[in-house]
Amino acid sequence: MTGSTKYIFVTGGVTSSLGKGIISASLAKLLQARGFTVTIQKLDPYINVDPGTLNPYEHGECFVTEDGAETDLDLGHYERFLDVPTSKANNVTTGRIYQNVISKERRGEYLGKTVQVIPHITDEIKAHIQALGRKGIYDFVITEVGGTVGDIESLPYIEAIRQLKWAKGKDCLTIHLTLLPYLGTTGELKTKPTQHSVKELLSLGVQPDVLVCRTEHPMQKGMKEKIALFCNVDAEAVIESRDAETIYDVPLLMQQERLDEVVLKKLGVNTFPDADLGAWKDFIRRYKEPKGEVHIGLVGKYVELKDAYKSIKEALEHAGAANELKVHIKWVHSEKLTAKNVAKHLGGSAGILVAPGFGHRGIEGKIEAIKYARENKVPFFGICLGMQCAVIEFGRNVLGYADANSTEMNADTTHPVIAMMEEQKSIADKGGTMRLGAYACKLEDDSLAKQVYRKRDITERHRHRYEFNNAYLKSYEKAGMMASGINPQGKLVEIVELKDHPWFIGVQFHPEYRSTVAKPHPLFIAFVQAAMKQGVAIPLKAEV
Ligand code: GLN
Repeated sequence: MTGSTKYIFVTGGVTSSLGKGIISASLAKLLQARGFTVTIQKLDPYINVDPGTLNPYEHGECFVTEDGAETDLDLGHYERFLDVPTSKANNVTTGRIYQNVISKERRGEYLGKTVQVIPHITDEIKAHIQALGRKGIYDFVITEVGGTVGDIESLPYIEAIRQLKWAKGKDCLTIHLTLLPYLGTTGELKTKPTQHSVKELLSLGVQPDVLVCRTEHPMQKGMKEKIALFCNVDAEAVIESRDAETIYDVPLLMQQERLDEVVLKKLGVNTFPDADLGAWKDFIRRYKEPKGEVHIGLVGKYVELKDAYKSIKEALEHAGAANELKVHIKWVHSEKLTAKNVAKHLGGSAGILVAPGFGHRGIEGKIEAIKYARENKVPFFGICLGMQCAVIEFGRNVLGYADANSTEMNADTTHPVIAMMEEQKSIADKGGTMRLGAYACKLEDDSLAKQVYRKRDITERHRHRYEFNNAYLKSYEKAGMMASGINPQGKLVEIVELKDHPWFIGVQFHPEYRSTVAKPHPLFIAFVQAAMKQGVAIPLKAEV
């Protein structure tokens, strides 16, 4: 597109959790399908500098970008929908904004001025929004503002949007996402909360251009016109967003509602190519019309909160679609698993995935799950802590190191088979001390990993402090656990696999971050295939 970058803001009203991330990603997908370049940014109003230190119970998964930023899980949706990597610049928190402003103040950059929310904080916010546009590669920058309009925390962000809209005029547009609650007693959808929410936004000086109304039921006749009248928007700019069967339907539903056309026209883009959503529709067909099904046991300690494993869940679904299989995930709580009940919990699973994690809680259960998978030849996929537990399990039960452990769990173990890298030891601060982002990995010939990736050199994203302890490598390889992927710089073990097993892979990195609708991850595809071959008839060895 010729001309300057256009900025689209997505705010939310009425309640949180309306799906601003999915609406943003869906609009971006539609614009991308018309040949435009788009990126999506998330502004998070909390004071944490990044979500890396947030408990998954509070905020779900922490998504890691190629350049090693620990970010909000919405960035995962952006990447899965667009198949374009995001970066540190795509997620900004209030903590980071203030940290930057305070550092500038300490360096004397404000020349003795009183540092204030307006203009210093708002200027910093605007600089972060425009930094993506200044790259000169995007036709559209979509900026999603976390939280709900009216929250104290989001005020500076709304003010920054007001200022940018004023300065940029037609190059800016605001989409406000609201809820139409359904009253069962009268059988009606109600528009009043939407009206109030728009009033709240107006009181902050921002007139929304487009309203996306989340609703469980179809909007009644005349409702769009009524909302349009009360909220100063065009009736065609009131978009119905009905609850969808899957998040991957949302771009198509938004296309039916012409969200992208309305946005383009309002931004003064009057000629645009038709959308090519062929590949997307093909994915949905394979996803919705599977030819078979497979059951995967996912062992983790946050299973009551599925958002903690968002990217893994999505990667399994992408891999299911690639294989035209419905993947059923059985969420298994690692803290509940024991040698006695492991067969009961995992007996029906054709593949076992052991999830990443931090801290000792639940690791003994993870180790039991791995022992079960190894002994019963059930396809096994261990990710990060899941891989480390596979190394511990092998150390204890095959090599006979009774107290084998990671020094994260037991600093005094006599067999520290997983330990901290030398260069990490001196760092005391929790935030930003990990091996983060994309690192190179070389795959060994004659390995399952190389067979899966079909190449020798790969890169994958990391997020951990501890590593396989190379002092034990020879003993492991001799006993049948092979290091099949090695980081060429640090000689760190990135992948382990078992020779004497149909499909047993542990990876120190996080392949789930790289899986997208357009490119499901080869490891997940192969794992689902292996589970399919295995079927579900697994001998129930242990006592139930
Ligand atoms: N806790 C482990 C480490 O820090 C694994 C981290 C993870 O699973 N992401 O090395």
